[in-house]
Amino acid sequence: MKFSGLRVLKEGLTGNNGWAPHWRDPEPKAEYDAVIIGGGGHGLSTAYYLAKNHGMSNIAVLEKGYIGGGNVGRNTTIVRANYFLPGNSEFYSHSLRLWEGLEEDLNYNVMHSQRGLINLFHSDGQRDAFVRRGNAMINQGDDAILLDREGVRKHLPYLDFENVRFPIYGGLLHPRGGTARHDAVAWGFARGADRRGVDLLQNCEVTGIDIENGVAKGVQTTRGAIKAKKIAIVTAGRSGQVAAMAGMRLPIESHILQAFVTEGLKPCIDHVVSFGMGHFYISQSDKGGLVFGGDLDFYASYAQRGNLPMAEHVMEAGMTLMPMIGKAKVLRSWGGIMDMTPDGSPIIDKTDTQGLFIDCGWCYGGFKAVPGSGYALAHLMATGQSRETAAGFRLDRFRTGRGLIDEEGTGSQHNLH
Ligand SMILES: Cc1cc2nc3c(=O)[nH]c(=O)nc-3n(C[C@H](O)[C@H](O)[C@H](O)COP(=O)(O)OP(=O)(O)OC[C@H]3O[C@@H](n4cnc5c(N)ncnc54)[C@H](O)[C@@H]3O)c2cc1C
Repeated sequence: MKFSGLRVLKEGLTGNNGWAPHWRDPEPKAEYDAVIIGGGGHGLSTAYYLAKNHGMSNIAVLEKGYIGGGNVGRNTTIVRANYFLPGNSEFYSHSLRLWEGLEEDLNYNVMHSQRGLINLFHSDGQRDAFVRRGNAMINQGDDAILLDREGVRKHLPYLDFENVRFPIYGGLLHPRGGTARHDAVAWGFARGADRRGVDLLQNCEVTGIDIENGVAKGVQTTRGAIKAKKIAIVTAGRSGQVAAMAGMRLPIESHILQAFVTEGLKPCIDHVVSFGMGHFYISQSDKGGLVFGGDLDFYASYAQRGNLPMAEHVMEAGMTLMPMIGKAKVLRSWGGIMDMTPDGSPIIDKTDTQGLFIDCGWCYGGFKAVPGSGYALAHLMATGQSRETAAGFRLDRFRTGRGLIDEEGTGSQHNLH
């Protein structure tokens, strides 16, 4: 089933009876060439690129719940390539380039909208830091424009510029930054993988990893044992638990991150805006809801919901930045489980067990990484070599201390990233 404007028109005129399910619902096979544990964005894109770029199709994605039920369907949908440090910047730059061709590649509307992202700064020191970041982005081949206060006012006239606690000095505009519809990204990759022969096994929780003489042989699941030549753990907030099944203790803490959405409003915010003096970021969805979020809940947990003190903190930051937001009614809030590494940067690597790979540590920034991560992990699984854009995401950097990528400059405290 291929999507096109003509097809939508035809179905619209003939009662929408011709649409087929996006993917099959197969029974697990006894053995696969590769098994991906976790049907989130990263697991699905890994399966997709294994099939597309490396010609593998005897692959299964094992998801304990339903496709899109994890963080991939819970985030605030921001897609950007404005990282500063080598190691990260080339990876996110590649990922954004993949986003730019994704809809055509997947034949699926993921509603990728490059509406521009503006990071505000509120002091001379912050301006210096953003000038450096902007130069690093441009050197990397991405785009960055420094705005002064009046430049920001032209783009974002609704911000509070007068008599405020944290005056706005300016902002760094990243024109190619923006948003994408999170569920659609999961569905698009799932459909794309399925079309290339990948089995998507939902309600299939992995409960054990079989290892013999240091070699991964298969997994135990709630739908039976499955043998596999290669296995990847791609379970985001649950990475620590699943890696423990292979006897590994990861340098990861799982923390809650909340998000909020208001009632639908007429278009009023046409960028992604990020506050420089509090952790607050906001955009407006195509349905009209203002989608926003802030900091982690500051304690480790596997709960997929947050608590009121952080909700209050986020609302306060929003009111400080744009008092008009106080008129909107918040409809829903939710939480996801973030896999926080000590340096705030991810892991895509082999493990000490032969045939066992791991992709995790995306902290609260892994949505934008979905295409780049799947591309890089598929490359590693198929060729045994790290792709150059992901060569720094080594697991052993936390043991040796060499090659840490401390993007946020917050040291080793997981909850400060
Ligand atoms: C509120 C919030 C806001 C965010 N905002 C942004 C943002 O604006 N931009 C951005 O780039 N990132 C953002 N993120 C981060 C981003 O969503 C995550 O980093 C990313 O989605 C994680 O990768 P994933 O999609 O593969 O994870 P998930 O979708 O969580 O996938 C992991 C899957 O593994 C499955 N699983 C776990 N254990 C097992 C098991 N034993 N067996 C089988 N399956 C298992 C889970 O059910 C889950 O479906 C945000 C996250 C949250 C929660």
